[in-house]
Amino acid sequence: MSDGKRTQDSMIGNGPVGVGSVVSVPAAPGVERRQRPRPKISSTPPAPPPAPRLDDYAPIIGQPELDDLRFLAQQLRGKTVKMVNSTAVGGGVAEILNRLVPLMNELEVVTKWEVITGGNDFFEVTKGFHNALHGGEYAVTQAVKDIFLSYTEQNRQRMEFSEDVFVMHDPQPAALIRSKRSDRGRWVWRCHIDLSNPNPEVWGFLRPFVDQYDAAVFSSPAFSRQLACPQYLFYPCIDPLSEKNKDLEESMVQKVCDDFGIDRSRPVVTQISRFDRLKDPVGVIQAYKLARKYVDCQLVLAGGGATDDPEGAAVLQEVMEEADDDPDIIILNLPAWSAIEINALQRASTLIIQKSLKEGFGLTVTEGLWKGKPVIAGAVGGIPTQVIHKLTGVLVHSVEGCAYQIRYLLTHPDYAAQLGRNGREHVKENFLMTTSVKRWLLLLQILLGTTKPHPPEEGQH
Ligand code: UDP
Repeated sequence: MSDGKRTQDSMIGNGPVGVGSVVSVPAAPGVERRQRPRPKISSTPPAPPPAPRLDDYAPIIGQPELDDLRFLAQQLRGKTVKMVNSTAVGGGVAEILNRLVPLMNELEVVTKWEVITGGNDFFEVTKGFHNALHGGEYAVTQAVKDIFLSYTEQNRQRMEFSEDVFVMHDPQPAALIRSKRSDRGRWVWRCHIDLSNPNPEVWGFLRPFVDQYDAAVFSSPAFSRQLACPQYLFYPCIDPLSEKNKDLEESMVQKVCDDFGIDRSRPVVTQISRFDRLKDPVGVIQAYKLARKYVDCQLVLAGGGATDDPEGAAVLQEVMEEADDDPDIIILNLPAWSAIEINALQRASTLIIQKSLKEGFGLTVTEGLWKGKPVIAGAVGGIPTQVIHKLTGVLVHSVEGCAYQIRYLLTHPDYAAQLGRNGREHVKENFLMTTSVKRWLLLLQILLGTTKPHPPEEGQH
């Protein structure tokens, strides 16, 4: 195509599953199916929008919060930080750094972001480490150690280490700690993964490096391990100005619904998740079917990754079988660059579901809460940190529980709306990018000794 863009609209049952498709379930013989319009999502990622400025956050978090950030940054002005990870694009860490680094620089804390390099053999090893740190099997042979350490050495030779603070994200650059000098520089290991049950061989290899750090930062108390250094808790966060979370014009929300054949005059119940059994999409359909005996609603199951992940494709097949030929179940297989569409789907929803059986933090929950939606979610992983039962949403433990809550919330809209309002406040306080900036500023102050404990006042002990 002349503009280099095209849309994919292949549909299951009539050919291969295409990304950007509304997955249509073949109709039973003699049953006429309502035709859904074909979606119009570009098959190539759009250019990223420019990074927001601090002042852009004022309408969201309020001027006093921004003043806090500027105040905290004052004592750090001119200090230098280097953040290091293993990829510039793709994945949550790159997404966070894309926003965090410009904001730190705007606060005049001079922050550089560098990406380590390595061959396929290096990334195969680090992928093996990653899976093993989540509990999988991996043999740390001499060859594995040599690959990991030789690329570490190459990166050490290539990079300069002259900043005040070095932050290494995840295991890939962890051994760069070998460049630590006794006379300057403080080192932080920012671990984004769950280390609660690591493969002992891989952890045994990495731990001596981690123990040399001055601080470690985890995303949940449950993810951490005993270490020689102090540990800090930084929750994952979302950016309220990103494509996924920014306010949208009503016309955009409507357009996306029109594209996907969603009827907004009736309740919309949505789960956005990769097609993964641990997200329990089949359980969501079962809960919807139970609830539908009592209340009218449509179910939207939007996910991605099913085209290039064989397990995802199998789960999508199971989902379609469970959906049978219900015209009110809308299954969407979205490409990775569907941020606006996901944003619109979340905003168009009456309820958001995240019925996971296992979960990391559950960013889809954060995103749903941020949009002021009542959320029904499985009580697993980081979800209970976000969904405080009956205050910022409701927690469920079963298909029946989920069905009950769908029915209850759809028939108690005032209560549901209150949960949504509370949920948004909870995210604003704890899980926004600006909260994360504040935590980094505080940690830098602690590490660089710019924050001194107050001496007790006269008469106080
Ligand atoms: N997501 C997406 N496309 C999809 C499904 C999910 O972009 O088809 C996004 C979703 O909006 C969220 C992230 O991927 O930002 C999923 O994060 P979460 O922590 O919920 O689950 P994970 O997939 O990391 O287990």
